[in-house]
Amino acid sequence: MKILLNNQTLTKTLGPFSDIGFVPTMGGIHKGHISLINRSIKSNKKTIVSIFVNPKQFNNLKDFKSYPSGIKSDLSILKRIKKLDYVYIPKFKDIYQNNKKSNIKIEKKYKILCAKFRKGHFEGVLDVMNRLTKLIKPKNIFMGEKDFQQFFLVKNFIEKKFNTNVIGCKTIRNRNKLVLSSRNFLLTKKELNEVEKISKEFLKLKKKIKNIRKINNFLQISKKKIEDFFNIKIEYLENINIKNLSKSNKYKGSRIFLAYFFKDIRLIDNF
Ligand code: AMP
Repeated sequence: MKILLNNQTLTKTLGPFSDIGFVPTMGGIHKGHISLINRSIKSNKKTIVSIFVNPKQFNNLKDFKSYPSGIKSDLSILKRIKKLDYVYIPKFKDIYQNNKKSNIKIEKKYKILCAKFRKGHFEGVLDVMNRLTKLIKPKNIFMGEKDFQQFFLVKNFIEKKFNTNVIGCKTIRNRNKLVLSSRNFLLTKKELNEVEKISKEFLKLKKKIKNIRKINNFLQISKKKIEDFFNIKIEYLENINIKNLSKSNKYKGSRIFLAYFFKDIRLIDNF
């Protein structure tokens, strides 16, 4: 595994290759990331992982400052993946040297869920994905369905503009079905147990809505109950059609999307 620390080395190293699989991350490497990397290794001659905590996608400075980062432990985990070729760890100036203000906009119909509650977040994500794709020129980008709205918007944006496929990969959970996330590193063991209990309550909803007609009404009532029971703030809890991201009362073709705050840590999931 070769570590690439700037754009010059990146361009020189990747130059001869066209069959490149790319896994963008913000570090805090866990088994969710590793599943994307293994998927890329299976489908591409070369695989590159990036670690870059992109300040432009944080709508909250405190969230950015407290984002779990540990480059040493990330590298020691990544080194164990025998067939991983490259890790790219750019500095801010490598990505934003051409700091032309981006005019990337999110269509109004997609300004729901995280786009509604984290103003400017996806504009920041699309901007950095645009820059990374220009630099790396991957054949395939692998992204997690855990962040489904992100995957959906990046796929729409990148596949229109570049000769690159954006491939969605299934969500990895721990043995108690809690979705793996770098933000889980911010939780103590006790807090993690509590979050697992909350997550179980959310997951139960999937069965409950199976035979309900007004799914979103039911979810609104459940939202209030779960908030009161666990003393948490839920930002959204909605049943969404995964083809067009519109609100839906149909079970088929939809997923429940949710975001909530446990203490001041924002967690998301969809299933
Ligand atoms: P992040 O480092 O959180 O920005 O995530 C980098 C990539 O890993 C994104 O495409 C995420 O959707 C994906 N990812 C994060 N957590 C998981 C998970 N539990 N299962 C699958 N993919 C994940």
